Amino acid sequence: MAQTLVVAQQHLTEHQVSDSTKLDCQLLLARILDVKPSYLVTWPEQILSDSQLTQFSELLDRRANGEPIAFILGEQEFWSLPFKVATCTLIPRPDTEVLVEEVLNDFPQTSDTRMLDLGTGTGAIALALAHEKPQWQVSAVDFNPDAVALAKCNAERLNLPQVDIHQSDWFANVSKEQGFDLIVSNPPYIAADDPHLAQGDVRFEPASALVADEQGFKDIRHIIATSRTYLKPGGILYLEHGYDQQTQIQAIYAEFGFTNIVTVKDYGGQPRMTKATYL
Ligand code: GLN
Repeated sequence: MAQTLVVAQQHLTEHQVSDSTKLDCQLLLARILDVKPSYLVTWPEQILSDSQLTQFSELLDRRANGEPIAFILGEQEFWSLPFKVATCTLIPRPDTEVLVEEVLNDFPQTSDTRMLDLGTGTGAIALALAHEKPQWQVSAVDFNPDAVALAKCNAERLNLPQVDIHQSDWFANVSKEQGFDLIVSNPPYIAADDPHLAQGDVRFEPASALVADEQGFKDIRHIIATSRTYLKPGGILYLEHGYDQQTQIQAIYAEFGFTNIVTVKDYGGQPRMTKATYL
């Protein structure tokens, strides 16, 4: 690898902020040089201008300080689609793709499906599903107007103007009239005293998207309780949750009369998503 990248990688390795120092350096340098990251895999070192070197070292310092690569680049891939990201909301995670996969398995039909994404953030789940199923009626809401604007921007960039995105504190501004075949959400579910919040990328993400009262269960409980009046009979609710919350989530679903309660593991083999049917 070219010397510039070797030195950059050593710098990041010393700060122990990343498991992928080589890739991070390539992504940051590619941004500065305005080339595809793959170009740098066989990069025959070129002389960088002083201004390029300064810019590169500024980005490296931000990364060395722990800032997520997605926030530095302003973009993150999810479901192989490019999403704009911003500090008003969560960076989409690969684990959340498991939720998208489950929905697509359960609802193979191309039309006549109404779905709602609660707390859509960047719009990742709703827009990935709308991309796969352009005929579905997809609605997505977020309580944060900045996130709503970001999700709308992503819908435009991904050419998915049919998706309805609007501001709503959970169900507050969602119409009950027609009912939904499915509701999805990746709500905040981390307990305020979880030491995980002091490590890694989450330090740069907003607490409003991560932390929930009642040991992380407040929003999940509200969504499960309230979704009953928004789902069509036989509709399914899909909720992402923490790896250690499976038992409690299943109990809350059961408490509110849901059936067919199934927990699905993420790519790391951890329980990550629980879905259930309301008859
Ligand atoms: N899975 C994320 C994390 O642990 C949290 C996502 C969320 O709170 N919805 O970093």
